[in-house]
Amino acid sequence: MSIDATIGVDSPPIAANLPGALAGHPGHVMTSLPIRCTCGEVHGTLEGVADGRVGLRLSCLCVDCQTYAHLLGRADEILDADGGTDVVQVAPARVRIDEGLRNLRCTRLTDKGLFRWNARCCDSPIGNTVSSRRVPFIGVLTSCLDLSADERDARLGPVRASVNLPAGLERRPANAGFGAQLSVVLRSIGLLSGAYLRGTHRPHPFFGDDGTPIVTPEVADADEVAAARARITRSA
Ligand SMILES: [Zn+2]
Ligand SMILES: [Zn+2]
Repeated sequence: MSIDATIGVDSPPIAANLPGALAGHPGHVMTSLPIRCTCGEVHGTLEGVADGRVGLRLSCLCVDCQTYAHLLGRADEILDADGGTDVVQVAPARVRIDEGLRNLRCTRLTDKGLFRWNARCCDSPIGNTVSSRRVPFIGVLTSCLDLSADERDARLGPVRASVNLPAGLERRPANAGFGAQLSVVLRSIGLLSGAYLRGTHRPHPFFGDDGTPIVTPEVADADEVAAARARITRSA
């Protein structure tokens, strides 16, 4: 694959597109973070982590993300106290799987669900996409980035908003207000349009050039999904 070369070519315009204060900062460097499943069979790289501006960091509280964490048996590690999954949405070309592709699995909770990419060797989640690579971002679960909580904030920037709150949630998490939601919409638009403008919608680590997923998605067993959903606890 020629992904390295493409990212190399791609990097200067991104730096140039950053706001002046950042782009002109003398200490400004483009760096990368390792992506790693728990057992280490699958590893890769998240590129373009610069001054907390890698992408849009969110906490998703939707029932499906919580169900998925329980389905993998990793809820304790993935979900925060509010049941949120910490994801950073990035352009596809930022993500590279370097080793262990044979262990890459694509799980759907239903036949219409998101593509949830994970490592079958140890049930570690890596990232989520929609079922078409034409929506040019990957929600990388920060649990696969091997960072402490403090390091996550420093390297990725803060969680911008908690989104997809389930109905009837008793305690509203931080960043769930209207202002935070609006900023997410604006940042998402910027991320999507920026990916096309800068060409970072490809290469895509999970889809081939013809647009098909590189592994066949597997729809999870309905009974197992129901059991996982039943394990979601609502913290008050
Ligand atoms: Zn593994
Ligand atoms: Zn979700």
